[in-house]
Amino acid sequence: MSYFSDQVFTNGRLATQNQAAPWATSMAIREGKIVSMNKREIAALTGPNTKVTDLQGQFVMPGLIDCHVHALWGARQELFEAFVGYEATLSDLAQGIAARVEATSVRQTITGGPWNIGHVNAIAKLGLTPRQWLDKISTQHAICIYDTTKHSMMANSLALDAAHIQDQVNGENKHLIELDQQGKANGLLHEEATASVRQFITYNLEQRLQAGHQMTQTLHRYGITAMKEPMAFAEDLATYQRLDQLGQLNLHVFSHIARSSPLNPQALSIDEMQNLRDTYRSPNHHPDGCKLFLDGVAPSRSAAFMDPYVPCCCVGEAADKYDADALLRMSPAQLAQQLTELDAAGFTVKMHAVGDRASNAGLDGIMAARQHQDSGIAHEIAHTTFVTDTDFPRFAQLNTVAEVSPKLWFPTAITSVQKELLGAARADRCHPIKTLLEHGAHITYGSDWPAAVPDADPWIGIAGMITRQHPKGLYPGHVGLEQGINLEQALAIFTRHGAKALRKEDSIGQLKVGFQADFIVLDQHLDQIEPNRIADTQVQQTYFAGQCVYDTQK
Ligand SMILES: [Zn+2]
Repeated sequence: MSYFSDQVFTNGRLATQNQAAPWATSMAIREGKIVSMNKREIAALTGPNTKVTDLQGQFVMPGLIDCHVHALWGARQELFEAFVGYEATLSDLAQGIAARVEATSVRQTITGGPWNIGHVNAIAKLGLTPRQWLDKISTQHAICIYDTTKHSMMANSLALDAAHIQDQVNGENKHLIELDQQGKANGLLHEEATASVRQFITYNLEQRLQAGHQMTQTLHRYGITAMKEPMAFAEDLATYQRLDQLGQLNLHVFSHIARSSPLNPQALSIDEMQNLRDTYRSPNHHPDGCKLFLDGVAPSRSAAFMDPYVPCCCVGEAADKYDADALLRMSPAQLAQQLTELDAAGFTVKMHAVGDRASNAGLDGIMAARQHQDSGIAHEIAHTTFVTDTDFPRFAQLNTVAEVSPKLWFPTAITSVQKELLGAARADRCHPIKTLLEHGAHITYGSDWPAAVPDADPWIGIAGMITRQHPKGLYPGHVGLEQGINLEQALAIFTRHGAKALRKEDSIGQLKVGFQADFIVLDQHLDQIEPNRIADTQVQQTYFAGQCVYDTQK
């Protein structure tokens, strides 16, 4: 090893995220790590073979960390699916599927979407069942496309017949298989009944690696150098590891293993979880997490809120019959048991919780685990969309991470839906980030792409966290204006707080001697512009372990 550094960056404005020394101008890097940030020392470390880059005053900061991104899924959607977007008409959907059919070998099942009830009604107006409508597009390819909630599927005859669906119409899932007037499956399947066609949607290793490349490119373009995969199945774990072995991951990935799924409702045993963790670990891939679901989502009224939903003409029970606990996916006793055993086995548990009753139940579960032992593992409430007043201090007390995702802390297309379902006052209490910070909560950022948002862009999220308004004015008004935080607080959430959730607070998330040289060069000075303009930030270069992995000029 040479005494001199490999690379030196000088003359920049480095927002280090190191609280002891928040600003610097230069750094020296050797073997992927920062070895000095002291100007005089750096001069001495600059040898004949040291590459020197003059940053010309540009703004530099640590790479961003997305703590909830289904990145492989998002990339597969971009590459292989007939994804038509949320505003598509029935003919857009038909064209999207037909184009995919055209481009795909018959051995590959066609998937994509999303469809919604409007599409189903439009198909009925044509005098067709969903199955017949899809059969008109192809009888050679199996087709199964998902709805906006991803809890239902629409399938053609080839897929339904291969799944022997007709044999199941009197079985235990019969209420989840829709029938035509002759008693034949009409092509619409819900929840567990979708498993029999979902099994046909598979990707070979080559396709999965292709998705892996697409994923890293997308994240690097946004300046993201570390992420948490919130719901990994064995195939995903294998893909991350293989990419890493090929030297192509260039990201820190922390995976939360899905303990159960619609395809495999039986929960994995602790032994099976540990086996997956040991099998698929590699230098940049850390499968040390587990994912559990505590409730559903607000639009389908399956999120567990303390107080009833606003009733409407067609759905919703009378307020006095509302039972929040009935919406919890697990009883308190089951959750306490799962958390206790996963905590003892060393897994970080991420719990999907949208409603305030669900995050409350998650905190109760963590409290139960803490009574057995203090493992020091910071478990996570995923989404943390709504929190009841008495729970704010419990995040710090129980060493629990409040992950905020997706970006609903400023007005979006979903805001009006939230107001309808929850009432305006409650909808305005969405993502109480400032109050959580005031109570000492450890907050991380997640995009939840592609489950809930069209892209993984973090910059619009940073801007919206400060202003609580849509940074580009696409949707009017604000969400909980008093919950806005300052730039310094927001950048900490997107960097060093995320590092801690990856168990890497001693090596990433800050520009500091001894830390890995993961950093980004930006086109503007975040601290010198109006907050809304942060949303327009363009990453010029992204570096991972001192290597330039994205350059806008190339
Ligand atoms: Zn998610």
